[in-house]
Amino acid sequence: MIEFRVDDETRARIEATRELGRSEFRPAGLEADRNGAPLPPDHPFFARCLARGEGRTRWPGPGGGGEARKPPSIVTMLLLAEELAYWDRGVIIATPGPGLPETSVLSMGTEEQKERFLGPFLAPDKPRWACFAMTEPGAGSDAAAIRTTARKDADGWILNGAKCFIGSASRSDWILVQATLDPARGREAQRAFLVERDTPGLGGFKIEKKMGLKAYESTSFTLEDVRVPAANLLGGEARYERKAGFKAAMQTFNAGRPVIGANAVGMARAALDEALRFARETRLLDRDRVRDRIEAMARRVRKARLVCLRAAWLADQRRGNIVEASMAKALAAQVAQEATHLGLELVGIVGASGDNLIEKLYRDVKAMDIVEGTGQIQRMIIARNLVGLPR
Ligand SMILES: Cc1cc2nc3c(=O)[nH]c(=O)nc-3n(C[C@H](O)[C@H](O)[C@H](O)COP(=O)(O)OP(=O)(O)OC[C@H]3O[C@@H](n4cnc5c(N)ncnc54)[C@H](O)[C@@H]3O)c2cc1C
Repeated sequence: MIEFRVDDETRARIEATRELGRSEFRPAGLEADRNGAPLPPDHPFFARCLARGEGRTRWPGPGGGGEARKPPSIVTMLLLAEELAYWDRGVIIATPGPGLPETSVLSMGTEEQKERFLGPFLAPDKPRWACFAMTEPGAGSDAAAIRTTARKDADGWILNGAKCFIGSASRSDWILVQATLDPARGREAQRAFLVERDTPGLGGFKIEKKMGLKAYESTSFTLEDVRVPAANLLGGEARYERKAGFKAAMQTFNAGRPVIGANAVGMARAALDEALRFARETRLLDRDRVRDRIEAMARRVRKARLVCLRAAWLADQRRGNIVEASMAKALAAQVAQEATHLGLELVGIVGASGDNLIEKLYRDVKAMDIVEGTGQIQRMIIARNLVGLPR
């Protein structure tokens, strides 16, 4: 029996998120979108995030001795992710914290690495960020094709290469950089390195222009003879023997797929609500054809929501969910694009003015189909698992 029952505490958290979304997240997202630039690190929004206790690590502290915080269920996390994205998905990613690579450091990092890299996020003295750098100008979907090299010498490692579209890279304290010992050996030669931001040779940071999600920076950078101590190899030399570098990267992606799906559902709901409000005000709802299209879209959004929740529920039961996680992301991202498309059609010329929420959502939502494995790649994963497509 599948059950998505929400307890009183979760309901209160979703309610609080809604209030925060309305008063903080949506205005910050609109501000960044209209300025066409990410929120700067010293923006008062980030100081307020910190004051509310956001931007912290899930790591409990040295020896597990810190304040033990029971992790919420994955279903709860999804419901919160949906609600947050309803208000502004770009702002969620802009929010300080150890971000995408935290899961890899928690599961694969040594105790010393957790203390050194997650420790500053226990009670941050200022907004702090970290990020995960896999994508390169010539390696996106095919993550095994990266060309950033890692060469070992007597003192540690020397990294050379270039990364692109990395979230929050220029403001991060450290970057989890995926590199290869030998590009010809594919995924088994990959290693993950914790590279501190002020390491010599790490530079050329350039914030990319993008069509949506402008609240957070997507940044390219280069690594030129970047010397990284042996102690910064994720998991240490012992893990290196077990060839776990690529696994670290895939773990980061697998954990995120249903969350991206939930984000997309939140954005689809926002577009539908806005379209409905407009259609009511302008009496478009008097037309059967318009009512039909909104009803059909609402059904599809609910379906996507249920698929996402099922993927999360399976994860909560510690059951395999690779197919469901990929279905959740592929379906929800597609439905969200359709919902914003419908919304834009309904608002017509008002949307074309470039100062309309649906027009912003239309631009924001495309990335949900790209990040953490494109829709095509999700469909390949599903096919591979269901009908045995070659690996
Ligand atoms: C907003 C945003 C934020 C991002 N943040 C990060 C980040 O923080 N860290 C990071 O490392 N990366 C990040 N990325 C990069 C993202 O992971 C890549 O864009 C994504 O993996 C796709 O790679 P690509 O853009 O090079 O497209 P490509 O891989 O070149 O794909 C182009 C098209 O071909 C299709 N395609 C590719 N291979 C196949 C195949 N075998 N079969 C069928 N179709 C295929 C794809 O589906 C796509 O439609 C971000 C991207 C965006 C847009």
